Amino acid sequence: MTEEPAELEPGGTNAIGRMLGLLGDEWTLLILQHSLWGVRRYGQFMAAIPISNAVLTSRLRLLTDEGLLERRVYQPNPPRAEYRPTARSRSLWPVLLAIWEWERQWVPDHAEGLPAMRHAVCGSDFAPVLGCRACGEVLHPRDAQADWGPSGSWPRSVPAAVTRRRSDTEGGSGQSGLFPDTMAIFGNRWSSALIGAAFRGLTRFSEFETSLGAPPTLIADRLKVFGAIGVLEPIDNLGRSDWMQYRLTAKGRAFFPVVALALQWAEQWFHAPEGAALEVTHGVCGNPLTAILMCDQCGQPLSGGDVLVVSADQHDLLMSGTEHIEAAEVEDVLMAHPGVREVAVIGAPDERRGETPVAFVVVEHGSGVSVDDLFAFAGEHLEPDRRPTAIEVIDSLPRTATGKVLKRDLRAPYWAGHDRSNA
Ligand SMILES: [Zn+2]
Ligand SMILES: [Zn+2]
Repeated sequence: MTEEPAELEPGGTNAIGRMLGLLGDEWTLLILQHSLWGVRRYGQFMAAIPISNAVLTSRLRLLTDEGLLERRVYQPNPPRAEYRPTARSRSLWPVLLAIWEWERQWVPDHAEGLPAMRHAVCGSDFAPVLGCRACGEVLHPRDAQADWGPSGSWPRSVPAAVTRRRSDTEGGSGQSGLFPDTMAIFGNRWSSALIGAAFRGLTRFSEFETSLGAPPTLIADRLKVFGAIGVLEPIDNLGRSDWMQYRLTAKGRAFFPVVALALQWAEQWFHAPEGAALEVTHGVCGNPLTAILMCDQCGQPLSGGDVLVVSADQHDLLMSGTEHIEAAEVEDVLMAHPGVREVAVIGAPDERRGETPVAFVVVEHGSGVSVDDLFAFAGEHLEPDRRPTAIEVIDSLPRTATGKVLKRDLRAPYWAGHDRSNA
């Protein structure tokens, strides 16, 4: 069911509104991001994200209801469930990649906590570049010509009420602050509408007011926020205050890949009976636009499986002989052991194969799981090359302030005296 697009009500909220209702929430973005990084269980989400129990519970329920996560019971007694990404959420990877890239480039305070990305095809750490699938050219905002489709209009593009209440019920300031500028643009329906209008070429205060149907005080408030984060700037109109115009800054224009990819995801997964909300053409080649991400190093289109998330201190790809082993794959297998609470797998130097997997395991309290049990379990469930050659049971995994496992610290004792500069 979650592999199919959702059918929307005739005349109701369109694909854009549904998308903004879901993605315009920082907790949702963080949960989905960690889900795509391999986090599955409630306790793992709690450990990885600075989130309260109440908020995590409500978001997991919402994401399950919306077909972005699938709840699966892996242990009947006591009942334990895990949350797996679906086709609908897995296909969000380009949007998340675009958000990371934008935050990395334009929000200096945030750059440190974001993962580097390596392109498996060319082996380089890369930056994603937006392109047109039809002609393969780099896509510039000015060349994407958008018109409302049959289900498109401003009123139908604002999020439905159900997902808008969150800030009231949770005291408003409960957000984590990890994607501050993205949320300033995305996390409020007037903000997202205003940035959409700016990308459609609107500049005048009065145009924003009439096309969005928003109260002038709200427009003024959002313009102030966008000015403060440097996304829109006023144009000097020789003092004519009745003719105030605003334009996107370089930082604002650079947000375009996020907007384009999020809109595309929305149309892919939410179908209004009347048809699309937006019809977008690539002005350069004249084809209907399908935006793709390309690798800035080799120029090839990116696909989800070729993008390896490797934060500066987190080499998640092991090179064993000529084979690549993903740490996450080994971690997933060990996590399936009911006595295992948390796992981190690193690559350790190996004379013969280059690198070999080493697992650090936190076991459930009182489970009595031993290292021998874990070796036996790995032996049953993993190909010989993928079995850890060492397993250490430890009390807790070292983590950064944002909750990411500090693999650098786990790796250090194994790599002392070795050179891993090519990794
Ligand atoms: Zn094109
Ligand atoms: Zn590449």
